[in-house]
Amino acid sequence: MKANPKRILFAAVSALLALCSPLARAGTVMLDPGHGGRDSGATVDQAKESEIMLSFAKVLDAELKRKGYVTNLTRDTDELVPLNSKRQTIADVKPIIVLGLHLSSSKDPNERGIRIFRSPKTEDEKLLLEERELPDHLVKALSAIEPKQTVTTHRLGLPYLNTPKAILLELGFLTNAEDRKLITDPAYQQKLATVLAEAINELY
Ligand SMILES: [Zn+2]
Repeated sequence: MKANPKRILFAAVSALLALCSPLARAGTVMLDPGHGGRDSGATVDQAKESEIMLSFAKVLDAELKRKGYVTNLTRDTDELVPLNSKRQTIADVKPIIVLGLHLSSSKDPNERGIRIFRSPKTEDEKLLLEERELPDHLVKALSAIEPKQTVTTHRLGLPYLNTPKAILLELGFLTNAEDRKLITDPAYQQKLATVLAEAINELY
């Protein structure tokens, strides 16, 4: 067989990919618990989105570390981290995934469920296959949690934190009594964290 330059290039790229994959698995997952400090996000009575998402981020952080991931939290106290510094962290750390952790709110107290926001469709071509698959994979994983929740995906107008890798999760409506009870329950937070970490581990 004649040496085909395309074939040689293909072999070289395959070998390189095989070498790189164990490193990719040990990549950094960045968690961005929304709001903080004077910006508490959605609030209902004593419940603040900023505080609930900080406590959840810590549970998810522990679960990801247990699976061998390096993690990076944009904040681990009740402070407001400027957008620029989050973007700088992304540039420095080069996370494999960025998850924004938020709660929804609505004028309608009956509105509930989990919402997953991904980059505009125009950004898809900048993503690797697993990055493109992650949002739907998370929908499937979160839909299996008891009690059953409605999980929907939506497109953002601009990439969250300027990177198409970033996904924004709204893990329930703070304005809905049942969702509020669930997301402030440590046992439910643990269930969510386990399912999310497992779903990430299946793809990365
Ligand atoms: Zn928020």
